[in-house]
Amino acid sequence: MRFILSLLFISSFFLNAQNNYPQDYFDSPLEIPLILSGTFAELRSNHFHSGLDIKTQQRTGLKVKASADGFVSRIKVSHYGYGKALYITHPNGYTTVYAHLQKFAPEIQAYIKKHQYEKESYEIELFPNAEVLPVTKNSIIAYSGNSGGSGGPHLHYEIRDKKEHPINPMLFGIDIKDSTNPIIKSIYAYPLDENSFVNKANTKQKLQLIPLKNGDYTIKNIEAYGNIGFGIETIDRQDLAANSNGVYNIQTFLNGRRNFELDFRKFSFSETKHINRLIDYEHYTTKKQRIQKLFKKDNFLSLYKSVVKDGCVSIQDSTYSVYKIRVADYKNNESWVTIHIKGTKDHISEPQKKQSTPYYIKANKATNLKEGHVSVDFYKDTFYDDFYMDFQVKNDTLTLHKNVIAANKTFNITYDVSAYNDEDKSKLYIARLLGRKKQPAYTSTKRKGDLLIAKTKTLGTFTLATDSVKPTITPVNFKKGQWLSKYRYLKIKIEDELSGISKYRATVNGKWILMEYDYKTKILTHDFNDGIITDTKNNLKVIITDNVGNNSTFEALFYRK
Ligand SMILES: [Zn+2]
Repeated sequence: MRFILSLLFISSFFLNAQNNYPQDYFDSPLEIPLILSGTFAELRSNHFHSGLDIKTQQRTGLKVKASADGFVSRIKVSHYGYGKALYITHPNGYTTVYAHLQKFAPEIQAYIKKHQYEKESYEIELFPNAEVLPVTKNSIIAYSGNSGGSGGPHLHYEIRDKKEHPINPMLFGIDIKDSTNPIIKSIYAYPLDENSFVNKANTKQKLQLIPLKNGDYTIKNIEAYGNIGFGIETIDRQDLAANSNGVYNIQTFLNGRRNFELDFRKFSFSETKHINRLIDYEHYTTKKQRIQKLFKKDNFLSLYKSVVKDGCVSIQDSTYSVYKIRVADYKNNESWVTIHIKGTKDHISEPQKKQSTPYYIKANKATNLKEGHVSVDFYKDTFYDDFYMDFQVKNDTLTLHKNVIAANKTFNITYDVSAYNDEDKSKLYIARLLGRKKQPAYTSTKRKGDLLIAKTKTLGTFTLATDSVKPTITPVNFKKGQWLSKYRYLKIKIEDELSGISKYRATVNGKWILMEYDYKTKILTHDFNDGIITDTKNNLKVIITDNVGNNSTFEALFYRK
């Protein structure tokens, strides 16, 4: 008996050590086999992905079910981001999130519409009490869609703990077929100070990756000296789709001893921006490839687990070391990379000289840069490291370095436009110049008297641009004066080329009507089933305002009975 008890104890100890989360509590939110276009903590621009992206067979309108009993605790409808999203809180303390929805189940939809009409706004955020919208396990709560910042039909599904920290849903037993090893795309070595070298150079080196027959990899032998680190570009594929997804765990070993680990099972939203510290940010913004650094400088991320000497490797003269990298997916399919390092001080070249400018940014100090009518304010700790900033103002064009250094906080760019005449002043906005063609892109601009202020987190080139062109409004599925008795929807296309659309408002016979805005198709849609339009003769009025305040009004009569 004692033997059995201790055996039970030991086996449950190992199980618990691996995973403390309830198994079989949460059911799949969809009725189809689960195939992923995105995994948990996958690397995205400026954030880690906080859930699973479940493919919906290139369709919208699939039934979305509550994963467990609970109540709708939060509803958010927004043009961007999660689009239409539902949050369900469960008695065990966890919350499940369902995003990019097409529409909600009728009872929930009615509750939301009531509030949208009260607030006269499509965008809305609500926090109903537990009694208002209770749900039972597997009941239909919504239909899958492509709303908000979604690039194709899918369901974004999350599980969060009480502290709103997202956790990998697979840890709760959500099962995804995966027998494929992670793929290593490239390996880099970084000399970490001016006296360190890899293959005789003091700069980042791409190493020659050699795939082996068993699926693992080796590297053409390297020579190194001093303090160095490695970086990896890696993805995982599951069995049933070609999507490049994220891996689950990365470990490194130096001469048989583990010295670094990245573990993607849970994170907090407050740390997600520090992804730009994990990846080689300059490499990402210039080459669009994400190299994850297998060494660290500070403790911004909870994803770092076992770390010896920050994951850095110290190589002495006349030595021989073996460095190994293990990459694993959730199903423990693993790929290994083996790197043989010969320590040598021979034939070392001069260290690269750092480019200097008159503007040295101390990361732990607030800095103001000013020239002529342009001023830039960085708060304390806007950047992670000290560096020489390239700062130039020529007429209205501000060169604020290049987007190769990640910012941790937003900073302010201020233009004094008092030299412009009043007519022109009101049409100005701050634009970021993008790409080789230097296309001006609107940057959210506030006005304070003669000052224009933009807040951004991205370095680059900025200018003042003018938008004196009004938005355009075009009916999509009807003509002025038409009978629309058999129509379910009223659709209007709205466009603004330069500063972009800021506001829209539609009324019929003076009454506000709900119009859903999809920024990707530029279409506003009203559902006649809302029951607001009851008269026979209807005067539709739509007012669109762009980001500098240019207005357009569209009016049309239509009839219904
Ligand atoms: Zn997603």
